[in-house]
Amino acid sequence: MRVSSYPLVDAAEAAAAVLERTPVLGVEHIALADCAGRVLAQDLSALSPLPAFPSSAVDGYAVRSADAGKTLRVVGESAAGRPLADRIGSGTAARILTGGVLPDGADCVVMVEEVTLDGELVTVPSGLQTGTNFHAVGADLRTGEKVLSAGTQLGAAEIGLAAAMGLPQLPVHRRPQVALMSTGDELVEVGKVPGRGQIQDSNRWALLAALREAGAEVRLLGIAPDEPGPLRRLVVEALGQADVLVTSGGVSVGTHDLVKPLLESLGTVHVGRVKLKPGKPFTFATIAGEGHKVAFGLPGFPVSSLVTFEVFVRPALRKMQGFVALQRPSLAVRLAYDARPSADRTEYQRVTLRREGPDLVAHSTGSQSSSRLMSLAGAHALVRVPPGDQRLRSGSIVEAMILALP
Ligand code: AMP
Ligand code: MG
Repeated sequence: MRVSSYPLVDAAEAAAAVLERTPVLGVEHIALADCAGRVLAQDLSALSPLPAFPSSAVDGYAVRSADAGKTLRVVGESAAGRPLADRIGSGTAARILTGGVLPDGADCVVMVEEVTLDGELVTVPSGLQTGTNFHAVGADLRTGEKVLSAGTQLGAAEIGLAAAMGLPQLPVHRRPQVALMSTGDELVEVGKVPGRGQIQDSNRWALLAALREAGAEVRLLGIAPDEPGPLRRLVVEALGQADVLVTSGGVSVGTHDLVKPLLESLGTVHVGRVKLKPGKPFTFATIAGEGHKVAFGLPGFPVSSLVTFEVFVRPALRKMQGFVALQRPSLAVRLAYDARPSADRTEYQRVTLRREGPDLVAHSTGSQSSSRLMSLAGAHALVRVPPGDQRLRSGSIVEAMILALP
């Protein structure tokens, strides 16, 4: 065993160092059908008003409010998509259907339930108000009004707005192309029977899911052996096409831990050890050469790899995609257990949350061993326990990174 030559970096400083060196990816124009989940790259403003014409909100009669209380002659009909050419003058009305254009001359719509009909004559109630029962031009959007801001994630309503404005495509940031591999001679493909001393490669599938949830497009590279030559060949080939390399394993200080020296030979290692529990050996590097490629060497223990993914990789992938909000939401929660801090490392403890009145109460998921994926399965949050020597008593209020609400 060697002693690591990398300084132990504060977790928040390491996260800032990662984001500082992570590029925002370029822009592509894509069809609305493919926009869900993508991040808008430019502000969008309305080029014309919505609605573009005064549009009836109900089925009824378009009239002049000055004709309130009178019996009027019905001169025709304005249905959705079939406007009436005639003007509504004094003493006349037009039948109008929801979405129909309010005819010229009319200034309000009377609901069909409120009139009395007699052949082609309609009697309207007294006290009609100008401007009622139709959507005025620009009532939903005025020309020039900001509709969507750059950095907004496109969901159903945002895509609907773009369509309503007549935009068939939108400018969005590229998704990061991520090459993902596991390292370690002990690993076997899931589904193969492990021999003595071998384990299933579970990290690759866990990280694949986490990467996709974070918006990445992933190229799965399989298992790299603990041998410098083959590992280097795989990594160099992978970096040719990817924006990001994510590995798991091979970053601690055992003699078989080859990822850090490899990344150092390919670029610059900015973070080699972090005051974080779990996840101390987390490694971040930038790769030399054209393009701004970054590499994350995640620790091998399953919980360590996923916690460091949450703390460092997910915000970086979101920055690449142009998100404004890089972090998961953070909420104050009440501990339902005594938390013992680590002396010198920020610890992310896995908890489930329960609602008790206005409070969110955090219950430990049990043993917090970095090998025990069961501590993360079904967890709602990662409670951030600052380093120190004082036990945090049950009932203490702490910050939690929210993964899912109960
Ligand atoms: P390492 O960082 O390579 O020393 O790995 C530490 C430990 O993490 C190993 O001893 C394995 O128990 C575990 N581990 C490493 N890679 C994986 C993987 N791909 N899937 C599941 N467990 C792993
Ligand atoms: Mg290993």
